[in-house]
Amino acid sequence: MKAITVEPKKNGSARYDDFPEPDVSEGSVLVEAIAVGVCGTDVEIVEGKYGWAPPGKTRLVLGHESLGRVIDPGSSKSLKKGDLVVGIVRRPDPVPCPSCAVGEWDMCSNGLYTERGIKEIHGFMSERWRTEPEYAIKVDPSLGILGVLLEPMTVITKALEQVQMVGQRAYWEPKTALVTGAGPIGLLAALRLCTRELQVHVLDRFDSGPKPALVRDLGATFHTGSVLDLGFNPDVIVECTGVGSVIADSIQQLGSGGIICLTGIGAGGATGRVVADMASAAVLKNNVIVGSVNANKRHWYRAGENLAHSDREWLSRLITRREKPENFKHALEREPDDVKVIIQFSEI
Ligand SMILES: [Zn+2]
Repeated sequence: MKAITVEPKKNGSARYDDFPEPDVSEGSVLVEAIAVGVCGTDVEIVEGKYGWAPPGKTRLVLGHESLGRVIDPGSSKSLKKGDLVVGIVRRPDPVPCPSCAVGEWDMCSNGLYTERGIKEIHGFMSERWRTEPEYAIKVDPSLGILGVLLEPMTVITKALEQVQMVGQRAYWEPKTALVTGAGPIGLLAALRLCTRELQVHVLDRFDSGPKPALVRDLGATFHTGSVLDLGFNPDVIVECTGVGSVIADSIQQLGSGGIICLTGIGAGGATGRVVADMASAAVLKNNVIVGSVNANKRHWYRAGENLAHSDREWLSRLITRREKPENFKHALEREPDDVKVIIQFSEI
């Protein structure tokens, strides 16, 4: 079969080439790939910044935002041939740490977890892949290709659960929410926030492309420029850029008792003075800065439900470009106005 693979930590090593069929040891469920979403993590792995091949191997199959069709349900009692499925990305560490021991691998404390397409397990950018039945999430068939948005949706499902849980530390009635960064994660955050009784605002660097209309069509308000010029102090901020200066400004601008959930990983912008100002603002306002990464099975299940109940037409506008696997290099280029690029392996 064909697969998109990289030699981790080696820039320019990505290729679309013949690769052995997935081994039965990777799980009894055999799946035909339909599409795989591309995100910043994939771009960084291709650039050689990080990534780990399976033990004893030199190459890693890329891709963690999957959608596939079951060819053989293997030992699964609930899956059948033809079902649409998405593969869970993370696996618990083998020790396991207390979090992994109770199935909360998203909170893994020793860092020995593994991740498909990122850390020591092959990903989903291959014509066929396998998974253990318990790590396959069935997708509502009416979602079709939009099922590829499930993995990004799990990230937001967990992040908003964290915000909700932190909010319960005191009487809490949030009125305004800000999402920084209108990429796929930010837009899915806005989609979910708009189902609550909140005034939702989304801020992005660019006001070109499909983002402003996507935000407006949710009933939310689109902004460009600095968070400091918003003119209000949000009760909730979901930070999706990872840019130091945006994070610093967001913490400064957060309302009293506010919660900021950081989901973006990036760099730069914040000098020592700015960080000190940020910390002071957080202390004086009793704010919580909560970090959130990955998702556990509860989040995957809820995300599937949330996606199934979302507006199909709006969701379809998040996918702005489809590429064939042989054009993977084009798909893995950074293009700021793209919302979500997917690599499509087979028709749905
Ligand atoms: Zn763990």
